[in-house]
Amino acid sequence: MAKVLIIGAGGVGSVAAHKCAQVPEVFSEIVLASRSVDKCEAIRDSVKQRTGREIEVAQVDAGQKSELVALLQKVKPAMVLHLALPYQDLTIMEACLECGVDYLDTANYESEDNPCFDYSRQWPFDESYRNKGIMGLLGSGFDPGVTNVFCAYAAKHYFDEIHYIDILDANGGDHGYPFATNFNPEINIREVTARGRYWENGQWVETEPMEKKWVFDFPGIGPKDAYLLYHEELESLVKNIKGLKRIRFWMTFSEQYLKHLEVLGNVGMTSIEPVMFEGREIVPLQFLKALLPDPASLGPRTKGKTCIGNIMEGVKDGKPRKIYIYNNCDHEECYREVGSQAVSYTTGVPAMIGAMLMVNGVWRKPGIYNMEQLDPDPFMEQLNQHGLPWQVKEL
Ligand code: NDP
Repeated sequence: MAKVLIIGAGGVGSVAAHKCAQVPEVFSEIVLASRSVDKCEAIRDSVKQRTGREIEVAQVDAGQKSELVALLQKVKPAMVLHLALPYQDLTIMEACLECGVDYLDTANYESEDNPCFDYSRQWPFDESYRNKGIMGLLGSGFDPGVTNVFCAYAAKHYFDEIHYIDILDANGGDHGYPFATNFNPEINIREVTARGRYWENGQWVETEPMEKKWVFDFPGIGPKDAYLLYHEELESLVKNIKGLKRIRFWMTFSEQYLKHLEVLGNVGMTSIEPVMFEGREIVPLQFLKALLPDPASLGPRTKGKTCIGNIMEGVKDGKPRKIYIYNNCDHEECYREVGSQAVSYTTGVPAMIGAMLMVNGVWRKPGIYNMEQLDPDPFMEQLNQHGLPWQVKEL
């Protein structure tokens, strides 16, 4: 039994708070802290209503290490689930190190003015975390997160060597707005407007944004246009999955979404370069975020399913093999259960499971880890039990 501190009261933080509250035998006390305490209070009330459990709330600017250290010293949690934004990864990791508290996140570090979008600033914490005897689990969402665990599970049970991996992420949900993003618009739009990149034969190959398209028939959804993107789990998987020849990541976008994005890009609204407006500097993408629907507000409106999974090809006992492991998640079912749509749900549930495996000792060991470095079996088992059941298909 452990006390945990969740930082971030957005869509993902809300799901994780509800899911942790559903497992009182593991998470005996839950504190939810964010920049806006009113959002924490709304989640606290929903958790109480849906699960009958009381959680505590607190206010913190997670960009300020001193505020975090003060909060950690007051709350004394066993671990922090960092579900705010990637900009705060380093301050929270440093505060956890100072206070000797385990750390988990769902997205790698980026800075607001320079999206570096890689693990180069987080992996170096490994030595200091080991020395302190604490653990940092990186990327415990769906992708990264579950997709990494699918690779480890396939490597353990289905292959002697995996040669090709394609991670396919489809959101077949419809929220009825002409244009909205399913998670933080700033992070989402940056990811989508960046150049594509995949790994083949030992090197990275770059593409133009949205240059490569694959029409894939997603189980439970049907055929959709998926586009090749760079995605952060590729960086750790090329290091940790032995024998790999190629790995790519694909995400679906509707024509309508891409048309809006093209126009917004053409007029400069997706830029992160500050511009002067009426005597003050503004960042166009941050202004756009203020205009777009809050991802947390999409829950009650979204219908349809997500489908995220990996197609993996390699050899087993000298014979070629190809499998597909995937999950379908229904937006409306998620909303009924925890009051959020499936994109937040598919991230918040793995965050809770990662935290569970750390606090109950099954996964816990000092140092910094990506998800595929740990035994996939207990995680896969918990996915089935906590709302994200998966299927394996031999292809
Ligand atoms: P939201 O924008 O909905 O929520 C972010 C929350 O963080 C808000 O409550 C915000 O507070 C809070 N926050 C922002 N800055 C600070 C700060 N300085 N101090 C304290 N709190 C702060 O994002 P999501 O819930 O959609 O996403 C959360 C994280 O999950 C992101 O890092 C995202 O990249 C990641 N993610 C990972 C996925 C995966 O599969 N691995 C998929 C989807 C998301 P306020 O409202 O006051 O601004």
